[in-house]
Amino acid sequence: MLSTDIHLASEKLRSGEVVAFPTETVYGLGADATNESAIAKIYRTKGRPGNNPLIIHTDCVDSVARYVTLRERSRVMGQFLRLQHLWPGPLTIVFPDKHDSICDLATSGLTSVGVRVPNHPIARELLAATDLPIAAPSANRSTYVSATTAQHVSDCFGQDLFILDGGQTSVGLESTIVKIEENGPAQLLRAGLIRQEELSEALGELVELGPKLGGAPGREKDCAMLSPGQFRKHYSPKTPVRLFNDRGSLASFIEQNSKQSTGLLLFSKETAIHGKNSVLRTLSESGDHHECAQNLYAALRELDNRQLDLICIERPKNGPLYEALIDRIERAAEK
Ligand code: AMP
Ligand code: MG
Repeated sequence: MLSTDIHLASEKLRSGEVVAFPTETVYGLGADATNESAIAKIYRTKGRPGNNPLIIHTDCVDSVARYVTLRERSRVMGQFLRLQHLWPGPLTIVFPDKHDSICDLATSGLTSVGVRVPNHPIARELLAATDLPIAAPSANRSTYVSATTAQHVSDCFGQDLFILDGGQTSVGLESTIVKIEENGPAQLLRAGLIRQEELSEALGELVELGPKLGGAPGREKDCAMLSPGQFRKHYSPKTPVRLFNDRGSLASFIEQNSKQSTGLLLFSKETAIHGKNSVLRTLSESGDHHECAQNLYAALRELDNRQLDLICIERPKNGPLYEALIDRIERAAEK
């Protein structure tokens, strides 16, 4: 059920129910992170594997100390202070040590915990009114494309779920995730609107790439456990997806396979591609990466609903969101 009643949504969260709400990145499926049975409902609803930890959301930076252990003059405390100005915003920080009040199920049994202060008026009002740490993974079935409108959420979960409707999300891709540790470098676990360079600059030291993003192979084993969100298949439509390196190879594929019904997802207008059996979607006329990110999931869902044989996506051009976009598209194409 779609609603704009933030007060009612807050009451539902406080009584252990699951509620979907908008953030600036994608819609989240929220529940009280201190309540194990509420958190179990999130995993059940999404069909999410139990080893994939949830991100905790709160309305203000000062509340973070209620949910994670921050020792005076520790490295983690220092790094947190340096990253703070990026909140509220599309950044998740994984801290090494959660408070006991956050139930173990919310972090898949890890002692570390991911926290974010989202920058969306509805999310912030909801979180402030609820005054609880709210675990909220993306509001889609596990491995499917994330939701950027309330309707997308409803398409996944039907009428029974309470959904706060905040229109289309502005960023359109999941938050950047950075992990900070007492010993060892900060690591980028998921690319997003806030870039590696920006994080390195804020921290005054180089942020390493996590394994899926091309980081040190030696640490792969740790990270596969610590960040199962790096599952290869993710953000993925039911229709097979194929990634093309450039528009020329995409055009000749369409020409040679004209009997197949295909969805063509392009990042800019430039030269057009035509196919008898093709549906063309351009994410941004000018190729603007922010616009592409905002429109990507809606376009993937729309093409996925058309019973096509294949969705063809071209590789995005270099630009500010290249890492974030290519990460999502490569995983969408994963079989
Ligand atoms: P989603 O909620 O679907 O956006 O996915 C959240 C992702 O955050 C997870 O899949 C993990 O990759 C990451 N994450 C959350 N908590 C932790 C944690 N404690 N340690 C490492 N990664 C985490
Ligand atoms: Mg997700």
